[in-house]
Amino acid sequence: MGKASRDKRDIYYRKAKEEGWRARSAFKLLQIDEEFNIFEGVNRVVDLCAAPGSWSQVLSRKLYLPAKLAPDSKDGDLPLIVAIDLQPMAPIEGVIQVQGDITNARTAEVVIRHFDGCKADLVVCDGAPDVTGLHDMDEFVQSQLILAGLTIVTHILKVGGKFIAKIFRGKDTSLLYCQLKLFFTEVTFAKPKSSRNSSIEAFAVCENYSPPEGFNEKDLHRLLEKVGSPSGVDDLDCSSGWLEGPNKVYIPFLACGDLNGYDSDQSYPLPKTADGTYQSLEPVQPPIAPPYKRALDMKKALNQGIRGVEKLSIDPSS
Ligand code: SAM
Repeated sequence: MGKASRDKRDIYYRKAKEEGWRARSAFKLLQIDEEFNIFEGVNRVVDLCAAPGSWSQVLSRKLYLPAKLAPDSKDGDLPLIVAIDLQPMAPIEGVIQVQGDITNARTAEVVIRHFDGCKADLVVCDGAPDVTGLHDMDEFVQSQLILAGLTIVTHILKVGGKFIAKIFRGKDTSLLYCQLKLFFTEVTFAKPKSSRNSSIEAFAVCENYSPPEGFNEKDLHRLLEKVGSPSGVDDLDCSSGWLEGPNKVYIPFLACGDLNGYDSDQSYPLPKTADGTYQSLEPVQPPIAPPYKRALDMKKALNQGIRGVEKLSIDPSS
C-alpha cells in the first residue's frame, strides 16, 4: 500500500505523522486517558514494550515536559519514565531507555534499580508478539507478555497504582480478567476508537493495585494458576460458571475516545494543498533497528543479485 493510500485509509496513521507521534498507537493511550484519567497524580512510570516509542512520547509530553517547563521546576522532582523494549529506540526527552526482554527476571531488576527503592504510580504495557494469525496461539503468547508485565508490576507498582496492558480478546479473556482482579479492585477492558474493530486487541485498564494480604511476589505464578483451578481463590471462583449460573463473571467492556471522533475503520478524504495535490508526510521516526531489517537487507541483496545477473546477460561488453 502506498503512503498516500495508507494516509487515506488510516486516519490515525496520517494524524500521527501530522502531530509528530512515532506510531498511531499514541492515540490509543491518549483515548484511554480521556476515559480513565490515567495520568492524574502520576510521577513515576514504566513503559513496557515501548518501541518505537509513541507511548513514551505521550508520557514525556503529558508528564515530563510540563513539569520541566513549570516555573518552579526542580531537576530532582521531575517525573521518572523508564521505557523497555527488545528493540532499541531513538531518544525521547525525559525517558530512560532499557533494552531487554520483559519476560527475563534480570530486566525487572534493571527497572527496579532505576527506581532506587521508590515505587511506580503507573505501568503501561503495549507488548505484542509477532502475530501468527492463529488466534489461540497469538492470544497465548500475548497473555505471557501480560503475565511478565504483571510480574514487574508486583515488584514495582505502589499500592493504589495503575496498570494498563494490551490484551487479545479470546476464549481465555475471562480467566485473565479474574487473574487481574486478584490484584486490582477495578479492572475494565477498553477498546479505544483508534483500535480497529477488526483487531482482537483491547486494553486491560487495572486501577487501585491491592495485592492479596500477605502476598509474596514469589507466589505470583502459583496464585495465578489457582485462579484457573477447581478450588478457585477465596471468593473469586473463576474456574466455573463464568459463562452461566449465579457465578457468571461480567467483564466491564468500554469503548473509549470521543464517539464523534475519527473512526479507525473508515477512509477519509486527503487534505489538498492550494495546487490541488496531496503531500504525504514521512514517518516521524522510523524504527532504528527493526526486527525485519535483516529480511529487508536479504531481499535487497537478492534483488541486487538478480539485477546483476540481468545486467550480465544484456551487457554486450561482458
Ligand atoms: N507502545 C509502542 C509505541 O507506542 O510505539 C508500540 C509497541 S509495539 C506494538 C510492540 C512492542 O513489543 C515491539 O516493539 C516489540 O519489540 C515489543 N516486545 C515484544 N515482546 C517483548 C519482550 N518479550 N520484551 C520486550 N519487548 C517486547
